[in-house]
Amino acid sequence: MTKPALTSLSPDALAAWLASAGEPSFRATQILEWVWKKKAASYEAMSNLPAALREKLAASFHLAALEHTHTQGSADTTRKFLFRLLDGRYVESVLIPANPALYGESSDRRTLCVSSQVGCAYGCKFCASGLAGFTRNLDAAEIAGQVLAAEQLSGERVDNLVFMGMGEPLANLDNLLAAIELITGGKTLRLGARHLTISTSGLVPQIRQLAEHPQQIRLAISLHGATDEVRQQIMPINRKWPVAELFDALDFWNSRKNQKLTLEYILIENVNDAPEQAAILARHARRIHAKVNLIPYNTVEGLAWKRPSYTRCRAFRDILKNAGVSATLRLEKGGDIDAACGQLRLKQETAEGIISLAG
Ligand code: SAH
Ligand code: SF4
Repeated sequence: MTKPALTSLSPDALAAWLASAGEPSFRATQILEWVWKKKAASYEAMSNLPAALREKLAASFHLAALEHTHTQGSADTTRKFLFRLLDGRYVESVLIPANPALYGESSDRRTLCVSSQVGCAYGCKFCASGLAGFTRNLDAAEIAGQVLAAEQLSGERVDNLVFMGMGEPLANLDNLLAAIELITGGKTLRLGARHLTISTSGLVPQIRQLAEHPQQIRLAISLHGATDEVRQQIMPINRKWPVAELFDALDFWNSRKNQKLTLEYILIENVNDAPEQAAILARHARRIHAKVNLIPYNTVEGLAWKRPSYTRCRAFRDILKNAGVSATLRLEKGGDIDAACGQLRLKQETAEGIISLAG
């Protein structure tokens, strides 16, 4: 059994631990500041803590839940970080400097894309994260720790957070909510809930549950097909939660939240890029007042799908626009660094023999 990470403690849990260790309660504020605000790299750096307390902390907790092992930079300054977890597994996060004009208004914001699981059980046919199946959930410290580490590594604040990395965040809802507490908490990372976007492949019961959550978190739906026929070819989850049930849950979401929903739609040649799909997608988007984010398919090693021509992508977008739907065609960011999440970790774990893609 390895030690837990200090970052897995909520402020209340830290206070309780200090009380049980016979330490005064004001130490909690000092420790939280060192960890989350000053982003201390070691216990030794926590200069206003007595040496005995630093030793007690070190004996009980790892300082961080993850260790940075590698950074991949791309020409457009998108950076991808690879992190090793305490059990030797890997996750990745992508820091995107200029906002792709989707999750906020300003263009000088930094968006971080974080992972919520190691691998993914949902097996979408176009996705690198699902390729090697599901390994495990990330805990709250491993999720929030990606933000902490990205800020530490870049020396900059993260303004926007999207849960679009590896894994299905709504299949790990308890840990996700605990992480969100750390990310938005006044004593921890202090990021506004409105700057958080959770992306889901469409887990209907959890969408309803999250709709009742008091914070104004944003939601993006990975739709990728406007009809059951097209969607279930590439997303097995559609057999469990077909399009109509998904949209009922989104109506419910809208009844509880006042932030616009986003529909994500990867364009894959000859799979989901027909004009008829665009027309049906436009009707769906209008009904739930959603904006649409079109993403030309990002090539994944080992998968045979192709990205449609730019002309065809634009034509798809124009059908949406002409129907009065706000639609953006995402310009590629980080295409040269395997930015489709899951690919870097897949390479690393395959190289180390932790997973095998053969057979
Ligand atoms: N499981 C969640 C969040 C992680 S996937 C979900 O599916 O929404 C985050 C986004 O990356 C999704 O919209 C997903 O469809 C997209 N994605 C996965 N593989 C991709 C690829 N090869 N090219 C472009 N986008 C991809
Ligand atoms: Fe999982 Fe999302 Fe990838 Fe589907 S797209 S396999 S749900 S990470």
